[in-house]
Amino acid sequence: MKKRFDIVTIFPDVCTPYAGESILGRAQKKKLIEVQAHDLRKYSADKKHTRVDDKPFGGGPGMVMQVEPFDRAIRKIRTRSKKAKTRVIVTSASGKRFTQQDVVRLAKYDQLIFLCGRYEGIDHRVEKHFADESLSIGDYVLTGGELPALVMIDAIARLVPGVLGKAESLKMESHTIEGTLEYPQYTRPEIYELKKGLRKKKLRVPDVLLSGDHKKIGVWRQEQSKKRS
Ligand code: SAM
Repeated sequence: MKKRFDIVTIFPDVCTPYAGESILGRAQKKKLIEVQAHDLRKYSADKKHTRVDDKPFGGGPGMVMQVEPFDRAIRKIRTRSKKAKTRVIVTSASGKRFTQQDVVRLAKYDQLIFLCGRYEGIDHRVEKHFADESLSIGDYVLTGGELPALVMIDAIARLVPGVLGKAESLKMESHTIEGTLEYPQYTRPEIYELKKGLRKKKLRVPDVLLSGDHKKIGVWRQEQSKKRS
């Protein structure tokens, strides 16, 4: 079954171009995944002004996104097949921190629906009654949930079989084993000459990587990985 990622947002045009390029774009062409951004305003009950926000109860600055458009959007977007496993995720600066363990866990679903807030965020009833979980991509506040949704989709899509050219690339990556970081990587040239200013210098690739001795290279990489982790 093709894995579906749905993004519910008032800025669908922010999301579509990113998901159409590079690895995600190729995966969509190969029909391994499908990423669709849905305009929340289409689900507004206010057909004239397509309003999706209102003032916060209790007062305070800014606007809060309303329950109804999200409720309607989720009902429309949710895959109807009984076999499909769907999970609804609210993006929120106060949600649980998203980690590689979540990537592995969420990669098992057939459909992931991401709800993106703007302004002061989304009416809490959405998180409580319509979403399965609330996730944050880090301890800082962004202007909207579109980048967090794309960050999560990008990380999860890499685990879909066939999306990455070589499944090997997944084996020794940072965070694949909890708390373990990848060894440093180098490519050509062997020596890069810094020519600018007074600090003329030759930046060399570690000798062991040029030795051709794969046992030694393996040991070195393990040591480096340990040091960094
Ligand atoms: N008033 C909210 C608070 O203090 O937590 C911040 C709202 S923020 C300006 C608007 C939207 O951006 C949020 O509803 C959420 O969808 C998204 N967002 C902002 N920072 C985020 C983060 N670190 N992780 C995930 N989503 C985030």
